[in-house]
Amino acid sequence: MAQLRFEALKKLNDRPKITADAITPNISQFFGENVFGMEQMRATLAPAVFKKVSNAIKNHEKIDEVTADAVAAAAKSWAISKGATHFTHWFQPMTGGTAEKHDSFFDALAGIERFKGSELVQQEPDASSFPSGGIRSTFEARGYTAWDPTSPMFLYGTTLSIPTVFVSYTGETLDNKSPLLKALKAVDLSATKVCQLFDKDIQHVVASLGCEQEYFVVDEALYMARPDLVMAGRTVFGHAPARGQQLEDHYFGTIPSRVLDFMRDFEIECWKLGIPVRTRHNEVAPSQFEVAPLFEEVNVANDHNQLLMDVMGRIGEKHNLKILFHEKPFAGVNGSGKHNNWSLITDTGVNLYAPTGSARDNLLFLTFFITTIKAVHEHADLLRASIATNANDFRLGANEAPPAIMSVFIGAQMTAVLNELETNGNVKIEKGDNMYMKLGIDQIPEIILDATDRNRTSPFAFTGNKFEFRAVGSSDNCATPMTALNLIVADQLEKFHEAVNKQIEAGTEKRLAIVNVLREYIKESKHIRFEGDGYSEEWVNEAAKRGLNNIKTMPKAVDAYLSKKSLALFEKHGVLNHKEVEARNEIRLENYIKKVQIEARVIGDLAVNHIIPTAIAYQNKLIVNANGLKGLGIDNGAVVKTIQEISGYIDLIKNSVTAMIEERKRLNKESDTHKRAYGYCDDIKEKYFDAIRDAVDKLELLVDDEDWPLVKYREMLFLR
Ligand code: ADP
Ligand code: MG
Repeated sequence: MAQLRFEALKKLNDRPKITADAITPNISQFFGENVFGMEQMRATLAPAVFKKVSNAIKNHEKIDEVTADAVAAAAKSWAISKGATHFTHWFQPMTGGTAEKHDSFFDALAGIERFKGSELVQQEPDASSFPSGGIRSTFEARGYTAWDPTSPMFLYGTTLSIPTVFVSYTGETLDNKSPLLKALKAVDLSATKVCQLFDKDIQHVVASLGCEQEYFVVDEALYMARPDLVMAGRTVFGHAPARGQQLEDHYFGTIPSRVLDFMRDFEIECWKLGIPVRTRHNEVAPSQFEVAPLFEEVNVANDHNQLLMDVMGRIGEKHNLKILFHEKPFAGVNGSGKHNNWSLITDTGVNLYAPTGSARDNLLFLTFFITTIKAVHEHADLLRASIATNANDFRLGANEAPPAIMSVFIGAQMTAVLNELETNGNVKIEKGDNMYMKLGIDQIPEIILDATDRNRTSPFAFTGNKFEFRAVGSSDNCATPMTALNLIVADQLEKFHEAVNKQIEAGTEKRLAIVNVLREYIKESKHIRFEGDGYSEEWVNEAAKRGLNNIKTMPKAVDAYLSKKSLALFEKHGVLNHKEVEARNEIRLENYIKKVQIEARVIGDLAVNHIIPTAIAYQNKLIVNANGLKGLGIDNGAVVKTIQEISGYIDLIKNSVTAMIEERKRLNKESDTHKRAYGYCDDIKEKYFDAIRDAVDKLELLVDDEDWPLVKYREMLFLR
């Protein structure tokens, strides 16, 4: 085993440099060249057909058969002219990542290439191997994928890829995209209603997302020599290197040239696919980096993020790099997240979270701003649940990521504005714009124009013209948190609209009614606002006093989906019915159990088959040495002490692994998924993982470096 480590290190040292492909600096010349989007449709479809398609997309209407046939024919010709041989419905099953099944355009019977509208619109993959949480019985394996025309088709390699939703034979959603589309529709409806209190011209509101993707890179040879990385995506053992991130010299530092070449190559691929990647930089931990695109409409942004992760993995291969999207691949240094920058933008081009210079528009801004805070206050547990995974549990609250407590950061200036609005109780209303002067909020425009404080420790922060949901994990599909966020905001906006209307009906002037409701919301949601250090112990205590939950583990967190409140919320807006929510929780818990099970097996296997034999072999060398010293009459106390220490660790590891296996056997007999997940969390993961790791990491410090079987942190993390 130690041989594997040294061979991997040699391979790393002998690698020839792989440079990025040369590109024309004019990205505009090739941006989106592999996308069959609006431009291509306009160019290839008859004007009447194009008008039908673009209207249907804009208004979320069904596309008829004749139109679908025309789009399919045009897409086929375009794709084949660019070298495509196959097409696929590309979808996002609940197992994570994306799925595809390629079909050839070539119809051997007819001897020609074909692609019918019906094939574009709907496919029937054998879905029996995708989890359904009990919705679909195994004999009824059918599921359908259906075209999502709001996200453009793209050419990936030689395959025309069609973004689709995935539903069961009986119509229940089985993927990540369908509930997201429904939540986006809900937020469009309620946000538009609220906007119309201010401006009747607004017909639609679109949610936008820009996700900052963090990741680690590791040389492929070193990765292959770490069975834990291969099997579990993270290192289950490994002592922290002498130098970690304490010098803070990596963040925003010069990007290592090997990684820069990789970045340039994957960016080129992304641009061709119409993914607007823009920012790249080193992150805090050694070997950790970030890529961020320009924001787009949420559905497209999320498809693009899923595709981006795939592209990065593929381009990494060319550079002999493995890209780690796991939330916590290395202990002791920062984990990776995927900040979801989010805002709502009207079809008249107004960002509803951007304060402006005019009092009237700022009331619109304040309406959305305060209503969002109130929504987070009402459904904090659901938001927490939406980002819960096995991997994210290692990161949240681990001292370098937001804690598992949901709170909202808004900055000192916005706090002052809200305080002013709240406390200024005795208001005399006058007609016209002067009203705002009397409300004491006339200063708002000046105050908030430069309101862009930063607080990296908050899970949900206002950053000037958008909210940033930072607790989302780096490997996650943003659809789940984005579904939750857009849904809770949709619901709160609707309640806001009702409350305002009620006051208007009772005779209150409209703008005063709006201000009244907002002031209520500020009062009611105060507990969720926190401006201090989210990483601190004081906050944990303070949050407990405020009655905010601090749900540290995944199985407990996802219970929030099943609360009466959440179920009603999903049902009311037609996003997921009761049965679908339960099925989803079942799938997520099953997935959690499997992940913890794999980790437990990897830990057991590495500890017993690699670490203990190495420790014993080294101990034997020491025993020979101790006896030799004794024979010469030299004090062998230090050596004997080391032999004893090694014995202690070996015993601890062996006993823990045996007990952990027994515990697993017991839990595997448990038929209730919920109980089994709790068991895997509390009686396996929490109880044994750290204890075993601690002993192994101690041995790493004792055993001769020449003999140690696993590639060490210092070797993996300082890639140059
Ligand atoms: P920072 O690291 O300072 O938070 P970055 O520039 O790394 O900022 O990323 C910010 C992300 O937020 C980008 O993807 C950007 O396009 C996105 N963004 C900017 N404005 C909006 C907005 N109104 N709605 C959604 N996302 C936005
Ligand atoms: Mg950033």
